[in-house]
Amino acid sequence: MRVLKPFDPWKSELCTCGFKLSFNPYTGCAHRCDYCYATYIPRFWEVREKKELFRNLEKDLKELSGDEIISMSNSSDPYPPMEKEKEITRNCLKLFKDYDVKLIVVTKSDIVVRDLDILSEMKAAVSMTITGCDLLEKFAPATEKRILAFKKVSEAMPAVLRFDPIVPYLNEDRLDIIEACEPEHVVTSTLKLRRDSFKRIAKTAPWLAEKLGRLYFEEGERIGSYWYLSKERRFSMLKKVEEFCNSLSISCAFCREGFYFKAESCDGRHLL
Ligand code: SF4
Repeated sequence: MRVLKPFDPWKSELCTCGFKLSFNPYTGCAHRCDYCYATYIPRFWEVREKKELFRNLEKDLKELSGDEIISMSNSSDPYPPMEKEKEITRNCLKLFKDYDVKLIVVTKSDIVVRDLDILSEMKAAVSMTITGCDLLEKFAPATEKRILAFKKVSEAMPAVLRFDPIVPYLNEDRLDIIEACEPEHVVTSTLKLRRDSFKRIAKTAPWLAEKLGRLYFEEGERIGSYWYLSKERRFSMLKKVEEFCNSLSISCAFCREGFYFKAESCDGRHLL
């Protein structure tokens, strides 16, 4: 069974990533973010180990040409709490290092700091998501913990800050996170809603859902199976982040928004 698969984010025309392979060392995610885009996957909140993962991974790695970029992980976090004991992700990193692959690690967890000894010797970048939306990310490490982890990562290797998603009325003004992290590159995007994520947000924060319902379902637009804010609203939210990054000489890209950005890549591959 293949475990390295072409990255295929909803087959979206808005995606600006170049070709890359997606790898999820675990099935399911422990962070349980209310806004999660991956909950169409059955039993998504249960983190499960994969059968014969290392054998399958090595088989796939042997077929690579050496130019591919692997993104770990896009539809779950590679550092759930059980990783502390299991070290499944850590052992995958050892394998990636042996095969000299180019890797982008995407995580919300400070556990990644443990693996800097391996990661810093690879052609790798760590992309850490820090949104300041602790209210909607109750089971993920707190914002302050992530900022500290980000600083440790960026001292050791290329680090990308994912200020993503921007949620209207919740974290639009949290530009202090960018200032605190001092990243080389920021990638940002506005919240996209599905009916299931909207229901979870409504349960956690009814006051917020009331405002979002109007912005998304009355004034916004539907693209594929996601609800977006109106173009005008998205553009002004994203521009605010970009202008702040410009003032600090940080490159800034937008993820699946359909707006031009100057940065060399959205996912940070230019840092590899
Ligand atoms: S970390 Fe990502 S994949 Fe995991 S629950 Fe949160 S949004 Fe979903």
